[in-house]
This record gives sequence, C-alpha cells and structure tokens, in this order.
Amino acid sequence: MKFKSVKGTKDVLPEESHRWQAAEQAIRSVMHAFNYKEIRTPVFEETALFARGIGELTDIVGKEMYTFIDRSETSLTLKPEMTASVIRAYIQHNLGELQPLTKVYYLSPMFRQERPQAGRLRQFHQFGAEAIGGPNAEIDAECIALAVAVYEKLGVKNFTLKVNSVGCEKCRPAYKEKLVAFLRGVQDKLSPESRERLEQNPLRVLDSKDEGDNALTRNAPLMKDNLCEECANHFSRLLSGLTSLGLSHEVDGRIVRGLDYYTKTAFEIITGDLGSQDALAGGGRYDLLTAQLGGKPTPAVGFAAGIERLLMVMEKQQLIASNDIRPVLFIAGADDEGRTWARSKAFELRRAGIACETDLLGRSLKAQMREADRQKAQFVAVVGSQELQQQQVTLKNMSSGDQTTVATDNLSAELQHRADSK
Ligand code: AMP
Repeated sequence: MKFKSVKGTKDVLPEESHRWQAAEQAIRSVMHAFNYKEIRTPVFEETALFARGIGELTDIVGKEMYTFIDRSETSLTLKPEMTASVIRAYIQHNLGELQPLTKVYYLSPMFRQERPQAGRLRQFHQFGAEAIGGPNAEIDAECIALAVAVYEKLGVKNFTLKVNSVGCEKCRPAYKEKLVAFLRGVQDKLSPESRERLEQNPLRVLDSKDEGDNALTRNAPLMKDNLCEECANHFSRLLSGLTSLGLSHEVDGRIVRGLDYYTKTAFEIITGDLGSQDALAGGGRYDLLTAQLGGKPTPAVGFAAGIERLLMVMEKQQLIASNDIRPVLFIAGADDEGRTWARSKAFELRRAGIACETDLLGRSLKAQMREADRQKAQFVAVVGSQELQQQQVTLKNMSSGDQTTVATDNLSAELQHRADSK
C-alpha cells in the first residue's frame, strides 16, 4: 500500500465513530449541566505560547512539541495542551470582563511527539474544562466533581481520584530546597531520567515510574507536609469540599505538575484497567499562568482528560454505546419505475429528517434486501409499478417481521409516528 496513517495517529472508522459521538455527547451534556460553555481555539499557536523559557524541564516543552516554521518565518506549534490556548484567548478577548468566573470546556485534538504505545498517541484527543477568575477551593472541588461526573455519566467504574497540593510561590522554594537536599543524598542511585529531573525540575522525581526511584524516595519530604498557612487552608477546604460533594478521594503526596505556574490543588483520575498508561485525567490550579502570559493576575483551575483512554476503558468494561445511526426505511426498487420513485421518495423523507436509504448500484431485488439487512434498516418497502399503481406500499418491520400496508402519500407521517412512538 502506498500511504499509511502517520505513526502515532489513528483513523476513527465509520463502524466506531458512534462510540466517539456517544462519549462526546455525554461530555457535552455534563459540561452544560455544570454551566460550562464550549471554547474552540486554533490547532496551532505561536511556539512561544507553549515554550516560555520557564527554565524548568517538562517533557512536552523539552522534546515533544510539533514545531515548524511557516513561510513567514514564524515558529508555530501544534497545540500539545489546551490550557495555554484558553488563557491566551481569555486575555485576548477580555473574557473576564463579561463575568467574574469564566467557565469553559473543550473537546480538541492535541499533538505530542511521544513514543507511541497503547493509550499513548501523537495525535490524541482531550476533553477538559477551565474555571478562570476565582481563588476558592470550592471552585477546585466543582472542577473535580465535573471530571468525575463525566465518567459516572458514561458508567465507567474502577477509577480513583487522587489529590494533592503543590503549594505556591511562597512555600514551594523552601520545600524544593529541602527536597533537593534529600535527593542529593541518593543521587547516585537514581535512574538517569530522575537524575536529569533533579537538576531541571526536582518535584518530578517524585512521580518517576521507576520502582528503584520510588524506593529511594519513599521517605522524601512531600510538599503537602510543607505548605504555608494559606495553601494548607486551601487544601483542607478542598478535602472537605470533596467530602461534602460525596466524592471519594485519596491524598497522594506524589502527584506533581510539571510547570511552575501550577499552585495548590493538583489531581489525577487513574484507572486500574489500562496497564501502565493509567491516567484518565489530570488537572489542578494554576494561579500564576495568566500573569505569565501577559494578562492581569487571575486565579484559575482546570483539568484535561484523554478521550482515547476513556474509550479504551469503556471497551474494557464493556460499556458499549448503541449504534442508532441506521436507516429507518430502506426502499427497494422492484423495477425501473420503482427505483425512480424510491430515489425521489428517499429524498423527500430525508428532507423531513427520516433516515432513509435506497439502492444506487443497480442491484437485484435480492441483493437490495441483503443490503437492507446489512444496514440494519428498521423497515423495508419493496416498490414496483404494481405498488405505484395501487398507490400503496407494504412496510416490513425487520425485527418483528410484521407487515403493514401504507398509502404512499402517508409514508412520511406513518414513519414519523412510528419513530416517535418507539
Ligand atoms: P496531561 O495534559 O499530560 O495532563 O494529560 C491529560 C490526559 O490526557 C491524560 O491523563 C491522558 O488521559 C491524556 N493523554 C495525555 N497524553 C496522551 C497521549 N500521548 N496519548 C493519549 N492520551 C494522552
């Protein structure tokens, strides 16, 4: 074969797209129930939006971005995450002036040049939400409840909500020193990746996937035990907020976020059903980002969640979305006159919103009946000159086998009625 999809990208084929649509519909309905409105931003942005010379190493900024120079010599990057784009749009369009708390959600492709494996793609899709404009822990709790509600709505089981606090610009520097001092003591035994992180972004050593690293850092100081008063209060309000919303959660002091604009709340939703790529969603508070992007300081919180991983978990848990995209009626033509009538009747019914199919390949009546079966049409009508002369057709219900005779002029109303009373 001459062309194949690029490594790390995937086609969603016609037979599986209904699963995406069902998930997307559930996501949207939960977002709307929480009064979040959709935001859509371009697929690419100026590279500097994502790589702001923060001096800290993240996997995304370090090596995973799809960056290219366009013909006007501008460096552009396919978005690897959504938060920076949302905040860029928030500042650019003064969204904060419209209301004190801006609540937005998105469904969007993301691009990261990672090593592809099950559950890890180079073009993948995320849904997520951002609540911009408030510092209170109750907003964090609502945002977490929103993420959890999506999984609940889709019937997903076997997931765990883990929460932590990553402190703020006041308490984190002193903690970081403490952590680095501890890590220096075991430096020689750490994995090469963690040794690199120790220099660039020491907090990330704590969420290493290497078991040796985890054993070495078992007694490392944790941010949650070194919070300033404000962060400690925020964290305890978050925990009681989650409890009062009835959301079971675990405190996990090893959950960190990669960038220094993250403050206070950090959370993850993980599943036991996906092997090593077990993170379904991650999020947290990022009170320092808006100012870093040139806006006025504005506290915010949000999360992002993988749609492919959501669908993988749903498949594993056999939460099959039903595929109701199928013709209500298949009109089979018994002769040329019937075929001509079938085409124009199909057009009329389709315009009335009734999903309808007819043969365009000149197939025999038998082959048309097989096709109607394959398409899982609810009803079939066989039409030829005889039926047209009598101005009535026989509607066969394909699941019960029942047959009813309907006047050709009443076909639309009859199908509409049956669809409504289904
Ligand atoms: P992050 O933006 O890295 O916090 O990721 C948030 C969520 O997006 C993760 O929990 C995953 O569910 C999903 N995700 C991140 N990277 C990938 C990827 N390369 N392929 C598929 N899903 C991903």
